[in-house]
Amino acid sequence: MVEVASQVTFPVKFSFRRSKNARKLPLKQRVKKILARLDKAYPGATTALAHQNALQLLVATILSAQCTDERVNQVTRTLFQKYRTAKDFAYANPAEFEQEIRPTGFFRNKAKAIIAATKKIVADFAGNVPRTMEEMLTLPGVARKTANVVLGTAYGIPSGVVVDTHVHRLAHRLHLSRQKDPKKIELDLMRVIPKNQWIFASHQMIWHGRLICQARQPRCLACPIEDLCFSKDKTI
Ligand code: SF4
Repeated sequence: MVEVASQVTFPVKFSFRRSKNARKLPLKQRVKKILARLDKAYPGATTALAHQNALQLLVATILSAQCTDERVNQVTRTLFQKYRTAKDFAYANPAEFEQEIRPTGFFRNKAKAIIAATKKIVADFAGNVPRTMEEMLTLPGVARKTANVVLGTAYGIPSGVVVDTHVHRLAHRLHLSRQKDPKKIELDLMRVIPKNQWIFASHQMIWHGRLICQARQPRCLACPIEDLCFSKDKTI
């Protein structure tokens, strides 16, 4: 059980009637049931990355690669007091900035990416993080995953489904996609998840992957969608 910013302890326990003949359900109906259960288990799910605006979320998301959200939040607590605008990041002293973000790992590459992306934001978008996928993808180091996190969470724009390592694993275990390429997995998920649920479903799947459907040892006994899952990785 984990406390998140919303002060909800995930996953919320609730009773549900197990689906009979779940194997015979058409895919979209099974997904509908999965999403309804995840809604109950992870109400109000959102990112665990502390941020107050789209710029901060973009920076935090870049820093979160191969790093825990807790560690990122520790770093950004002081970082965001010093760097407040895209211009502040764009003109940061690279060596100094590298040391400031060092605890998040891969600090040289991350510093380069943040400085390059914010330079582009200053030059082409008047210092504001853009609001379309097309524009987001022009930022150096920003791919669909980061763009979807920022557009969905900071702006409420459903641009796609966030496919991180947890969503990737869940998509396979729930037989929602057989693809390996995150872009193709995202397309499969966009086909079966209604657009108005892309943002929340992304967060809910990420929390579910973190807390229950863990890579090495999924906690299937505690899983609210166990009856709807036919993964060979199931532990019960
Ligand atoms: S039943 Fe197990 S493998 Fe399937 S989604 Fe739940 S935790 Fe993951």
